[in-house]
Amino acid sequence: MDDRAHRAAHRIEGRSAAPGIALGPLVRLVPVKHDVRQHRSAAEEHQALVDALAASQLDLGVLARDAGDADAEAILSFQIALLEDDNLAAPAFALIAGGELANEAWSAAIDPEIAAYDAADDPYFRARASDLRDLRDRVLRHLAGETDQSVPAGVIVAADDMPPSTFLATDWRDGGLVLRRGSPSSHVAILARSRGVPMIVGVDVDHLVNGAEALLDGNAGLLIVNPDGDMRASYCQRRAEQSEVRQAVASFSGPALTAAGELVRVMINVTGLAELRDIDPAHVDGIGLMRTEFLFQGRKKLPTEEEQYQIYRRMLEWAAGRPVTIRTLDAGGDKPIAGLTQPGDVNPFLGVRGVRLSLRHPDVFRAQLRALARAAVAGNLKVMIPMVTVPEELDRCRALFEQAVEELRREGREVQMPPLGMMVEVPAAALTIEDFNADFFSIGSNDLIQYVAAASRDEPQLADLARPSRAVFGLIRYVVNYANRSGRETSLCGDLAGDPEQVAALLDQGLRIFSVAPAALGAVRAAIARYSGSAA
Ligand code: PEP
Ligand code: MG
Repeated sequence: MDDRAHRAAHRIEGRSAAPGIALGPLVRLVPVKHDVRQHRSAAEEHQALVDALAASQLDLGVLARDAGDADAEAILSFQIALLEDDNLAAPAFALIAGGELANEAWSAAIDPEIAAYDAADDPYFRARASDLRDLRDRVLRHLAGETDQSVPAGVIVAADDMPPSTFLATDWRDGGLVLRRGSPSSHVAILARSRGVPMIVGVDVDHLVNGAEALLDGNAGLLIVNPDGDMRASYCQRRAEQSEVRQAVASFSGPALTAAGELVRVMINVTGLAELRDIDPAHVDGIGLMRTEFLFQGRKKLPTEEEQYQIYRRMLEWAAGRPVTIRTLDAGGDKPIAGLTQPGDVNPFLGVRGVRLSLRHPDVFRAQLRALARAAVAGNLKVMIPMVTVPEELDRCRALFEQAVEELRREGREVQMPPLGMMVEVPAAALTIEDFNADFFSIGSNDLIQYVAAASRDEPQLADLARPSRAVFGLIRYVVNYANRSGRETSLCGDLAGDPEQVAALLDQGLRIFSVAPAALGAVRAAIARYSGSAA
């Protein structure tokens, strides 16, 4: 008889950190205990720490090389940068010189740093404590001669915290993650979301039994230990629905045609290379929006020109000649970046964000424009400026871009000036669209709606106001008509484009280029195929 029948289902509530659902045995990960090694001379202990630091740097370099996505690379380069900073290990070497063992000296040096990050007010810095813990443990493992902790595939991992490097070294197929610590803004959560691994945080993992069957609902922030038959059945149904959606995407992989046979282009919105891994470029009409701010978030240092160039170039290579629209940094608003955006902005969405910020940080902007100009030779790149309000902003961007191109040419680099377009997301820009010297337009409905309605996109109480209205559709039609008359392309890359219920209304405005989240591709193509009207 099935032993499971005797065990009652037990629901444990946590906080959702990454959506999705998983069913499998629980595996409790316990922190590694590091051996106290037998005594060696101070010189030997010193050398042991030097070797462990070098070996850790090597590990991280290999992980970064194989990571394949910007989020992971950002976390690993944060750790590499810490290791490269001599100040981090200096107290440990001083303690060793005073007779301390290497492992104790290393912990004594780094634990106060971890405690400081843990105590920080800023959630960004608190989340970095786990990166430091990860680094501490990696060096300790090398000092103790141990290898990485490995996690089997298809299980629900429960742990106090999980170092990003363990996450990256794990096969997460059909698996999920439950943590006591961490938050939705921690690095592991960012990685889990970008890799589609269901994850919840805030769970007391001490009482979880190794090997017990569990159902993890990343959307609801729920862990059900010993789920009953009904719960399993509902899990199977949700899995089936998810795979139907995936099949729908695949079955609508040809050109998107309306019922009247008119061609509509459907592109995707992405934040980094990770999302591209599971998408066949032949199934999409290109990348309509690459939000570069995610390359800048969650790191100690801003990405260099070279780092950005490598990522942009790889995106263009993935697209194999299809258009790739990369948007320059749109930091600010709900996307603060430590050291760059203005803390304490009274009204961040009406503050120094998007192009306003880039123009105030010419060095940061210049590095991005140089990286883009270099990448442009690798494919069909288009560059787009966010939050443009008046024509002079775009003119200044164009001048800076031309300057960057010229500078690179003088350095003997192979470069190209790509078409320069703008997001249309500020009502003032939409209403005076004829005045802008843009090569193309892309309507940002997320911001356009909130600015037209004066209702924040993040305020659930105002959801009824912050929705597509006649006023918003009027502006969309106005922009699309002008673009058509002047022979320029217009796409729409806000979330509105990915809502199958709004597809017909958007086609009615004359829109023929959609850019949507990859998960919305199938449903949007299906809605286009049902459309029998014509904008004419
Ligand atoms: C938008 O505003 O619609 C848009 C696509 O930009 P973001 O959501 O990144 O502000
Ligand atoms: Mg926007």
